[in-house]
Amino acid sequence: MISTGEFLLPGDSICNIEEALPGEGTYETEGMIYATVTGTLFLDKRRRTVSIFPKVRKPLVPKRDDIIIGQADHVNKHMVSLAVKYINGQSVEPSYSAIMHISHCTRAYLDSMFDAIKAGDIVRGKITDAHTIPLQFTTTYNEFGVIYGLCSICGEKLHYLRRGTLKCDNCSNVEPRKVAEDYGRARL
Ligand SMILES: [Zn+2]
Repeated sequence: MISTGEFLLPGDSICNIEEALPGEGTYETEGMIYATVTGTLFLDKRRRTVSIFPKVRKPLVPKRDDIIIGQADHVNKHMVSLAVKYINGQSVEPSYSAIMHISHCTRAYLDSMFDAIKAGDIVRGKITDAHTIPLQFTTTYNEFGVIYGLCSICGEKLHYLRRGTLKCDNCSNVEPRKVAEDYGRARL
């Protein structure tokens, strides 16, 4: 019988079914229980089951061209910084920080970052340089930009009005944004 804390690989034998019942991460065949995943063994003595806690996933390492989603936390005339929550659809905890210079925001002329992204917006972008801290990203393409924003007057959700413009249905405030083409329809 193998004991709690033992490190196992898929296919390693654990015990026979007279000693314990197969739990998560194990399977039974011909009276023997084996590991199906890489991880550490846990023997629940009360329930008489053996299970395996999978080895923790490798931390995500951001790369150039990865798609990020994050919340704008600081905005000034020339720069925005994001707290990155997702990289290629996978949530990241703790979050990375990513910045964008105004020249990487849109192909259209832009005088101030405040006309494209506001603090609190949820933004999708693409990493252009992953060798720097913070990461650097762009929102130049149609699929990138703000995917969710709140009215800066009343705090209600903004709706798409036309390219580059969002509107608040609550107070009729109209605000400029660099919006992603699926604004309001994006799923995290
Ligand atoms: Zn409003």
